Amino acid sequence: MPTPGVPPPTPRRPARAWAAEIDQAIDAVVDGAGPVAVAADAPIARRIAFVTRDDRPADAGAWLPFGAEVGELSADGDVLRVGLGPATSLTAERARRAAAVAGARLSTGPVAVQLPDGRSDLVPALIDGLVTGCRGIGPVTLHVAQARLADAERGRLDADVARLARLLVNAPANVLTPRTAADWAQRIARRAGLGCTVLGPQQVVESGFGGLAAVGAGSANGPHLVQLEYSGTDPGSGPAAAPDVALVGKGITFDSGGLSLKSPAAMQAMRMDTAGAAAVLAVMAGLRRGRCAMTVRAVLPFAENLPGPGAVRPGDAVTAWNGTQIQILDTDFEGRVVLADALALAASARPGLLVDLATLTYQAEIALGPQIAAVLGRDDAAVARVLRAGAAAGEPLWRLPWAERYLDQVRTPSGVRNHPLHDSGRAITAALFLGEFVAEDVPWVHCDMTGPAWSGDASGDGATGFGTRTLLRLLTAGAGHAAE
Ligand code: MN
Ligand code: MN
Repeated sequence: MPTPGVPPPTPRRPARAWAAEIDQAIDAVVDGAGPVAVAADAPIARRIAFVTRDDRPADAGAWLPFGAEVGELSADGDVLRVGLGPATSLTAERARRAAAVAGARLSTGPVAVQLPDGRSDLVPALIDGLVTGCRGIGPVTLHVAQARLADAERGRLDADVARLARLLVNAPANVLTPRTAADWAQRIARRAGLGCTVLGPQQVVESGFGGLAAVGAGSANGPHLVQLEYSGTDPGSGPAAAPDVALVGKGITFDSGGLSLKSPAAMQAMRMDTAGAAAVLAVMAGLRRGRCAMTVRAVLPFAENLPGPGAVRPGDAVTAWNGTQIQILDTDFEGRVVLADALALAASARPGLLVDLATLTYQAEIALGPQIAAVLGRDDAAVARVLRAGAAAGEPLWRLPWAERYLDQVRTPSGVRNHPLHDSGRAITAALFLGEFVAEDVPWVHCDMTGPAWSGDASGDGATGFGTRTLLRLLTAGAGHAAE
């Protein structure tokens, strides 16, 4: 019975159930059982019409004030027109952004989606944007022309995979620890038919992954090394000795900097430091649904970089899995140290292509701004392949030079130092450091996605899922699309 004059207590909101959300997102990726479905065309009054500026009627006044600018909306009875801007500058990224604005306007039920003529390459991005934009609304069914159905399904997979990656990164670091990340990897493997091996803290040490062991040593949540194996569409083929593609992702579930402690402000969003591994995990979950015809192996080093008892000290020397000695001069340069072990292991299988994703250096963001990721590599053809996939997927990538002139920044007489001598060019010297762990003849591309992995302040769900769409484009060939 409320006391007169005293306001009732504010009801406490239930804590967000991160684990259940992640479990559901995994199921959505593996089964395609998300709240948004796509289906073939049917007579439905409610319609979304994507239009470019060039689609405006000759009597331009008929649509005014709607100018079909990117993401501009115009509701006209049952029709929601969505602007895509000028046709000549329309890219997958713009298409996805415009469609996401429209997706946020959707309500439950069926809706016909009118796609722009002659641009089947944009169908995945448009459907991806709609699905991403209307999360939390469903069930929604997007009806598209029969001929566009396969591309639409591909867009839906892109959206589901990116969402899983975002959830894994947004989850607080007390939810996503190295241990729970490995648990989710095992769940993904079970559900998606992947091979999975997990090494716990003790096995990481015993197996000689000295870099990962050192970085994880200052946390009670010890390091884990996860390996996933996708054997292609032929179920009898078994794991390949040399996979077509190997993926590596930086999985620092929280980066305090270790003993080389970050400032409080710099630490706030450091759950984002697992974005590379999260993107790879989410993509692996989607390979079967995407009918990936390649064999794919993922190597994911998970650790929490804390300055607790046992933490690695500046000046310590550790031995990586390939025998190279790493001098750890700054414990906040931990990403390259865990990637050294993971890349050495992944490269040892002689994959046809090796790609690593990492939130590695702030200087990659200084160079390219918050939305563009840096790619570096020795192999021009491999780099070009990844750049093409990024452009088709609508994820902006820009190549930085492989500048061996700076090798003296990272090499020492006895191995490598994790802290380069100069404080400039660090996106480049980080890549050179990693190159010490990958044989020169392995086609390898390093992607530093520090800028685009997160958007907004630390208190929000800022993870973008960056990298997932490029990897899916590399690995899966939807109907009518050759894999890049
Ligand atoms: Mn760091
Ligand atoms: Mn880091």
